[in-house]
Amino acid sequence: MDLNLKKHREDLIFLPLGGANEIGMNLNLYHLDGKWLMVDCGVGFAYDIPGVSMMTPDISFIKQHRDNLIGIILTHIHEDHMGAVQHLWRELEVPIYATNFGANFLRSKLEEYKLDKTVPIRIIDGSKPLNLHPFEIEFIGLTHSVPEMKALMIKTHKGNVLHTGDWKFDPNPVVGEISEIEKIKNYGDKGEILAMICDSTNAINEGHSRSEGELHESLKSLIIGRNSYVGVTTFASNIARIHTIASIAKEVGRKIVLAGYSLHRLYEVGKKSGYFFEDFEFISDREIKFYNKKEILIISTGCQGEPMAATRKIASNSHPTIHFTKGDLMIFSSKIIPGNEKKIFELFDLLAKKQIDVMTEKDHFVHVSGHPSKDELREMYALARPRIAIPVHGEFIHTKTHCEIARECGVEKAIQIENGLAIKLDKDNIVSSDKIGFVKVGYLGVDGKQLVDLKSDIIRERKKLQEAGIVIITLALNDSLKLLSRPKISAIGSLDLRRDYEAETMIRKEIEIFLKNKARELNLNEGFGLNFLRKKKKKADLKETKVIGEIQKSLRSRLLKIFEDLMGKRPALEIEIMMIN
Ligand SMILES: [Zn+2]
Ligand SMILES: [Zn+2]
Repeated sequence: MDLNLKKHREDLIFLPLGGANEIGMNLNLYHLDGKWLMVDCGVGFAYDIPGVSMMTPDISFIKQHRDNLIGIILTHIHEDHMGAVQHLWRELEVPIYATNFGANFLRSKLEEYKLDKTVPIRIIDGSKPLNLHPFEIEFIGLTHSVPEMKALMIKTHKGNVLHTGDWKFDPNPVVGEISEIEKIKNYGDKGEILAMICDSTNAINEGHSRSEGELHESLKSLIIGRNSYVGVTTFASNIARIHTIASIAKEVGRKIVLAGYSLHRLYEVGKKSGYFFEDFEFISDREIKFYNKKEILIISTGCQGEPMAATRKIASNSHPTIHFTKGDLMIFSSKIIPGNEKKIFELFDLLAKKQIDVMTEKDHFVHVSGHPSKDELREMYALARPRIAIPVHGEFIHTKTHCEIARECGVEKAIQIENGLAIKLDKDNIVSSDKIGFVKVGYLGVDGKQLVDLKSDIIRERKKLQEAGIVIITLALNDSLKLLSRPKISAIGSLDLRRDYEAETMIRKEIEIFLKNKARELNLNEGFGLNFLRKKKKKADLKETKVIGEIQKSLRSRLLKIFEDLMGKRPALEIEIMMIN
């Protein structure tokens, strides 16, 4: 059922275009009285798509309504929440609201795309409500692995929605504020939260997520007393972790080297925003040679095995200044994200072959999550007491389990959402607060500088090329379909025709026989070819194009059969025909 907006013009609607039943690409819409508000605009990893490693949600729905889109509020700096701004903003051209730190971070990213002077960024003062009529937004600081993560209390005359963003309850969060639990409790106690849109990342994990403070002790015990280089790789956006590692470096007397572009950017933005960097001693990677190994701690990018990142370069001996040898240590202070296993294990392998010690979350306590486990979710429901729960930010299994937890906690309605599904929310009528229709959704791949629909021909063709290569055949024909020169056959990534004469002969023969038969079929004797037909008939030009089209089509299917016999699969095949009169 398509969403009928005319019918629901007055309604408060929640509609995610990305991030529901998946981790990544968070993009949520709220609607009321014909106006729209976007919360977050993130990217996700793309897998098995040649040339595309990131993707964004397809925003064609909100693009149609961009005149009524008030703005985009960003909850925090993680890529899955703001990484699509530089790719999608041009389609929307609305103001962006972010905290001071978020704004500095976003600006530095927009610089790369020459958009920093164009995109209007409004800084959120977390202590004051933001009035974006018909929505009034109050900001609630919650602990996460980055500073200034803001949950939103979206207040409307149809009810209040708590949009949590990413969070955990961590009494010792290292950076950022401790969760502003009181604010949530106040609303909850008064029964003023109609719906909660909440993080489900760890909804299937029992207990309580461990604290960043606890992790400090564990990491320190692994590093202290070693005489080797110590490298720690983590997400460049995990500021809490970088702070933890930097504090340990200080305590054990090591200088910090940042390796990787995104860490340097974070350092600059962090410094500008007044976060922690003054307390620690950083040196550049070029200075590393002036120190003993035991005086150095390297923080590097590429914990997911990214091929161009610093950790990979260190592992493959291609980093210009950082050279690890036998007995040095690399700690992966990060989660192994499902889908990235292959790349990460390749990296472990590279390091192991060089006899570098590797520690990961599988064998040591080197990582804590920034998201709530079951017990924290229960605590949150006890505080907020929403009437409706809509879990997001998780795969199907996570949002399903999260719905069960919400029901256990006494929530009247727990709705398992999906991208493109619109939910009406109405404090005066809980029964009617339900699914009201779908809008178009999908994914766009970030393909260099362009965005491509992942269902488009470009991607389909590229996959085909990757699978079986391409053969391009160029034929120069006269108007009697006689070959004027040897057919030019280029096989790229498919057949080795330079060595395989038999295959090449087979293809050439097939082309010759086909053309002869075709000429006979069309009665094209020398001198009475297509050109002759053209003179005879007015629409002969069309006729010629049609004949060429037919030749291409039937020759293609004949040749594809030969390729299938030769290769056991079908390559992409292009046949170009030049008619020379
Ligand atoms: Zn996050
Ligand atoms: Zn997230």
